[in-house]
Amino acid sequence: MPEKYHIETRPIPPRRPRVGKYGIVDWREDCCRCHNCVKKACIYDRHREETNYIRNLTDVDALFFDCMGCFSCVQDCAKGLLSLSLNPVYENLGNAYWTPEIIRTTWLQAETAKIPVSGAGYKGRFSGPGFDAMWTDMSEIVRPTRDGIHGREYISTSVDIGRKPAFLHFEQGELARPIPALVDLPMPLLIDMMPDQYRLSRLEPAMIKTARKTDLIALVDYRSLPKLARSQLRHVAFYLDQGVKMPDADMLRQTRLVEIADGPDVAERIDAVKQIHPEIVAVVRVALTSDGVERAVKLAEGEVEAIHVVADLQGNEVGAERPRFIKDMIRKIHRDLIENSRRDEVTLIAGGGIALAEHTAKAVICGADLVSINLPLLIGLECHLCRRCEPGGSCPAKLEQVELDYCVGRMTNLIAAWHGQLIEVMGAMGMREIRRLRGDVGRAMFFEDLEEQTFGKLFTSGS
Ligand code: SF4
Ligand code: SF4
Ligand code: SF4
Repeated sequence: MPEKYHIETRPIPPRRPRVGKYGIVDWREDCCRCHNCVKKACIYDRHREETNYIRNLTDVDALFFDCMGCFSCVQDCAKGLLSLSLNPVYENLGNAYWTPEIIRTTWLQAETAKIPVSGAGYKGRFSGPGFDAMWTDMSEIVRPTRDGIHGREYISTSVDIGRKPAFLHFEQGELARPIPALVDLPMPLLIDMMPDQYRLSRLEPAMIKTARKTDLIALVDYRSLPKLARSQLRHVAFYLDQGVKMPDADMLRQTRLVEIADGPDVAERIDAVKQIHPEIVAVVRVALTSDGVERAVKLAEGEVEAIHVVADLQGNEVGAERPRFIKDMIRKIHRDLIENSRRDEVTLIAGGGIALAEHTAKAVICGADLVSINLPLLIGLECHLCRRCEPGGSCPAKLEQVELDYCVGRMTNLIAAWHGQLIEVMGAMGMREIRRLRGDVGRAMFFEDLEEQTFGKLFTSGS
């Protein structure tokens, strides 16, 4: 059995006061000093923590909002003096897609590297737009032998990037054509470049170091290459935008993967890279604009080894008035490749809108081999996704003062938590290998399909 993939983690507490959803308002007046005050009974000890917090207050603009919202003290106070309040800062986090819940969950995972547990306390909706319109099959959850995270069964999350030949050619008992190079990653995750509006100088070195720590690969724009140690190059893939010159040959030979922007000369640029380093795997980056799906399918008909399709930050089709969501675009590409008998030959990487660990599993079920992420790593550094990332702007996460070790630790914790969740979800589905989950839509239910099956006949015209 291969050695189990394991990421070393350690708790990294936040640098800033926690931004929780709830706070407790304590009116105090008329308090009857009960012997068994409900504040002492808070199982999270939040009332005592609040007192300590106020004693050591450093930022006057940040109040204590870390109550878990269980209502116990509010309901049981003998005089009804306590009430729950919503934190306005929490409500303003992120946007409609990157919701405050997603941001807070990401912060907790980046702090602890643990899987968030909601259990019976889950207060959210059971369906919604985007990935929330998809439910994974958890029918094997009760089988203890499937419990991969605790080591009773090995669940593989490894994936390969590269072209796989449909069949092997032999001549006189010998392989007539060499097998193309493959890049093996221990989990289906590529660390993508930060979008331009969030590119902070300190992030790139941290992302590269995180890639090394987690044995993954970070994409780095070759135009803004930071100083790199030779040992880091194995965990770096240069991104060559249109018009960018070929990378330094010596550096390129130390890498395993390169990503090239799609364009009219993409085939020649791949050839030029392969002239320098024949063993490198070349990925073509395709923006999921209105013709992105068709372009990805067309590229796969040629000799392209891997395609990285990228939607916008919300997972939507780029520039469309009524955009398709990434899960639907992945499904379309996957199905078209199957129809063209090309699916097993090319690797499909999907990016844009991958905000939670469960989105990785869902994107793979839709047909991606692996996903790329960027914003979750930034959010893990206590970013509020407030879109005020200009030089000299007031960053609520104070990211301009951040230490490299803190960034690498939090990013590593987040990836470890996602890996744990991926194993959990695969165990619950009875899957032992992520490669086999690709395109297995029988492992999920889609809201649109269920709605159509249930109500389609009732509400379609002519019925
Ligand atoms: S339970 Fe309510 S009234 Fe009693 S001591 Fe606590 S806060 Fe005061
Ligand atoms: S609502 Fe629950 S978590 Fe919050 S302070 Fe009261 S007892 Fe503690
Ligand atoms: S919190 Fe800081 S890093 Fe995050 S979006 Fe706002 S200004 Fe940018």
